Amino acid sequence: MFRGGLPIGKAFGISLRLHYSWFLIFVLVTWALAAVYFPSTHPTWSLALKIGAGVITSILFFGSVLFHELMHSIVALREGIQIQAITLFFLGGVSQMTGEPRTAGDEFRMAAAGPFSSLVLGGLFLGIYYLLNSSTSETAQIIAAISQYLGIINILLGVFNLIPGFPLDGGRVLRALIWWRSKNLQSATRIASNVGRGIGFLFIIVGIFLAFTGNFFNGIWLALIGWFLESAASSSYKQMMLLELLKGHTASEVMSRDCTVVPPDITIEQLVNEHILSSGRRCFPVASGDRTEGLVTLSSIKAVPSDARERTKVRDAMMPISRVKSVSPNEDLSNVMQILSENDINQVPVVWENKVVGIVARDNLINFINTKQELEKR
Ligand SMILES: [Zn+2]
Repeated sequence: MFRGGLPIGKAFGISLRLHYSWFLIFVLVTWALAAVYFPSTHPTWSLALKIGAGVITSILFFGSVLFHELMHSIVALREGIQIQAITLFFLGGVSQMTGEPRTAGDEFRMAAAGPFSSLVLGGLFLGIYYLLNSSTSETAQIIAAISQYLGIINILLGVFNLIPGFPLDGGRVLRALIWWRSKNLQSATRIASNVGRGIGFLFIIVGIFLAFTGNFFNGIWLALIGWFLESAASSSYKQMMLLELLKGHTASEVMSRDCTVVPPDITIEQLVNEHILSSGRRCFPVASGDRTEGLVTLSSIKAVPSDARERTKVRDAMMPISRVKSVSPNEDLSNVMQILSENDINQVPVVWENKVVGIVARDNLINFINTKQELEKR
């Protein structure tokens, strides 16, 4: 969902990105600081000072969110989990990680690192505030004001993330503790997600109550957070259950083997009429002789305007094999599923010794999951 974004640099081999929604929220936060917060705490400040302090505070606030995410990632890296990117978006940050923690202890340390570092950072900022607050120098006063805000916001960030509902950090801590006690990851995830959903519903009920008893905006805001918590808990639980069902099975078990190979020099028009409409398939390896040159999918065809399909060759519309994301026949299906969703694609070719031997589409995975669930029912 929040995978795109503007790259802003790299730290510890992890690429850091700003999601486009971030710019909007940056302006909003800066505005709220310069027009509402600082005018109420420091009414004597000039407009330029309020705006300047607003911009600096806003940048440091997002730096704090980044610090929180980085701390999760550094612990994860030490535990052998790869982190590809951290994207800051309007609600915080998301780390894109490959793999899950292997033990309850790993999960506990990784989850606790974020809120812990936010609380420490918040404590540091508040410390600066108390040190400089009574100073008579104006610069010290400004730094104190900025530190006070950052201290409070970092502590709120730490506390919010400690709410014990999966997939929040606190929910992951809870899951690690249950996992450690019960040695059963699946039931630990189920319990931690249910607690998350319960807290979500509680927020919604309290939010609606507040909204109807005169505290309209805070009530709506709380209900929205509750709704976000509830849906995040149930969707990440479903996601985990699916991965669990797929784990231990390989791409070669579900791939469609009867791939129709098409030559590169037919036109898109021919491809549609002779292959796609009659077979209902969505993806075709392109090969001349024994050599696979690329892959042509429904999305690559849709990119060609309909009046150009008669003269466009498959070769010019296909994705060259060097740029196609592929998997080996032995790839675990849970990884295949993650590859599909991370790259936002509907199918991935299975390649063995430079040849496309099959294709795994989302449909193949869904059929596999349905059949397996059907068989497990009693
Ligand atoms: Zn976190």
